Amino acid sequence: MNSNNLNHIASIPPISRLACPDCDLIQTIPPLADNEVAHCIRCGTTLFKQQKNSINRSLAFAITGLILFIISNLFPLLSLKAVGLTQESSLLSTAFALFDVNQLLLGIVILLTTFIFPATTLLGTIYILMQIKMNRINCYTAPLFRFLRSTDAWGMLEIFLLAILVAVVKLGDVADMIYGVSLYAFCLLILSLSLLSYSLNPQDVWNKLRDSNGCSG
Ligand SMILES: [Zn+2]
Repeated sequence: MNSNNLNHIASIPPISRLACPDCDLIQTIPPLADNEVAHCIRCGTTLFKQQKNSINRSLAFAITGLILFIISNLFPLLSLKAVGLTQESSLLSTAFALFDVNQLLLGIVILLTTFIFPATTLLGTIYILMQIKMNRINCYTAPLFRFLRSTDAWGMLEIFLLAILVAVVKLGDVADMIYGVSLYAFCLLILSLSLLSYSLNPQDVWNKLRDSNGCSG
């Protein structure tokens, strides 16, 4: 290990203590260099990976995702044309169509999983990562990040895309399908959210929040 590596490791604040998600053993993680991985000393489960530029990369994916989310909602995802009639479908209109046929509960679930939670995830993530980058972390940053982690599994755009594909297969023979630019943006949005989820290391964010003065802002 050369002196540059030593200097680099010395600049990284140590992670305090982590509980192994598999065997619950609590252990202290030493400072790690970029791309180094800490494993549980008892069961070998990966505890933490020090990723290079995790915050910047995640912020880029989140901003890209927000732009694609806006485009996805500006235009119809899909248009059906049959017997001279055209029916357009967008993310929001799907939920409101369910309200119109008295499927209130299902409409609320669709609204939450395809619009509210993805929008909250993207806006909240951008807000938190910008605060970290600008060193303006305040009292609400940690509770907001905890909330976003708890709702992470509720965004179900992939399921919605699956439903669109089923509709395309089922109705393809009886109606003309017109794919809008929003559908392509929607597919890229799902890809961006997946990359964001892969790129964002929660432990990195918690480390930044812990090292800040917390309620200074
Ligand atoms: Zn373990």
